[in-house]
Amino acid sequence: MKKKFFVIKAWFKRSRKRYRYKLTKNVPDRLDPLTLYLETNLEQPWQVVMLCPCGCKSVLHMNLLDEYYPYWKYCLDENDRFTLQPSVNRTVGCRSHFFIKKGEILWCK
Ligand SMILES: [Zn+2]
Repeated sequence: MKKKFFVIKAWFKRSRKRYRYKLTKNVPDRLDPLTLYLETNLEQPWQVVMLCPCGCKSVLHMNLLDEYYPYWKYCLDENDRFTLQPSVNRTVGCRSHFFIKKGEILWCK
């Protein structure tokens, strides 16, 4: 059991940079590379907008509304660190595949 855990851990390359999140009604034209923009209407955040962490400069949009597919869920821990589930897996462009966990990017192999 323990061994399995280490194997899984080895799949990820940890990035040292920590992202912060920002609630916003209007996502700016120039995105900060270490900010996750939570686009919000009056009721709730409905999408996450960010620059692709690989550096390809693509703008990624992750839908948070469960009536549309695919959708993601986010949570904030006691230190206000942002976690997104499931992973982001780009099928076009750079094909990056990563998790955002506690504000950090965890790369999948
Ligand atoms: Zn990319």
